[in-house]
Amino acid sequence: AKAKGRNTYHFYSQELDAAANERLFIESELRLAIKARQFVIYYQPQVDSRTQHVVGYEVLIRWFHPTEGMIPPNKFIPIAEATGLIVELGTWVLQEACEFAARLAVQGRENNISINLSARQFKDAKLVPLLASIIKKTRVPAKCLHLELTESMLMGNVEAAIAQLHQLKALGVSISIDDFGTGYSSLSYLKRFPVDILKVDHSFVKDIPDDPNDMEITAAIIAMAQKLKLNVVAEGVETIEQVEFLQNNNCFIVQGYYYSEPIAESELSSLFEKLNDR
Ligand code: C2E
Ligand code: CA
Ligand code: CA
Ligand code: CA
Repeated sequence: AKAKGRNTYHFYSQELDAAANERLFIESELRLAIKARQFVIYYQPQVDSRTQHVVGYEVLIRWFHPTEGMIPPNKFIPIAEATGLIVELGTWVLQEACEFAARLAVQGRENNISINLSARQFKDAKLVPLLASIIKKTRVPAKCLHLELTESMLMGNVEAAIAQLHQLKALGVSISIDDFGTGYSSLSYLKRFPVDILKVDHSFVKDIPDDPNDMEITAAIIAMAQKLKLNVVAEGVETIEQVEFLQNNNCFIVQGYYYSEPIAESELSSLFEKLNDR
């Protein structure tokens, strides 16, 4: 048992070393990656299931590293957040997203563009003037921009969060609560925040129609959101059964592999063909 214990320790310690090394590697590479243009923005369509037309996109960053290949955001966003590099990276994302929105507007597609904000970005006093200047420069209609925040980002200093939300909304943008239902907030609490959209988290959608609990929760979130006059977007929708369940519960805007994975801008025209959205 002793030997096994030692082996187990050894095993975990090697794993920890590997994780720490990976972290250090990502941290040092991140600093170079923006300048080296290793990031690309992918867009995942949000589709109105009644018409099958694209109504918006979520902006999702991708890192194509020259030797490591694609490094998923879950691996590097937390590190960028911890080191503060997220502010520079997030500024780049905002800029790219608004340029994309402006290109779409030229084609007559005034779609919503949902952008993920990190906690640091949201708390940054420079966020509002930065966004104001990007909106002005790119001439994107501010009403097209949806900023996605998570519940936990609003907790902590509630008064400061409410003030920041009001300043952002004064620019004309909308506020969306991401991963809704996975955080700590209650819907009554949410009423205090000037938010516009709830995104029903993938974890509730993924086991529909097999898990009756998840179906109850999803239906309840949609119903309560409607009472609070909030729009609802369902995330991680992968099957026609899920689309139909959501429709039956009055949620029509869906995002997920059923319609499309996140794609590069160059792939958009074939998506429009597929959805017969012209
Ligand atoms: P998120 O904001 O919850 O984004 C949705 C994630 O679900 C994306 O993962 C997307 O590719 C994935 N997804 C979409 N449809 C489906 C589906 O039908 N099934 C399943 N299983 N997954 C689906 P991704 O792109 O790997 O991003 C992971 C997380 O990284 C995001 O979660 C977000 O928190 C963060 N992230 C991505 N881009 C940015 C960014 O530009 N800034 C910040 N701050 N965070 C970002
Ligand atoms: Ca999101
Ligand atoms: Ca989400
Ligand atoms: Ca999620």
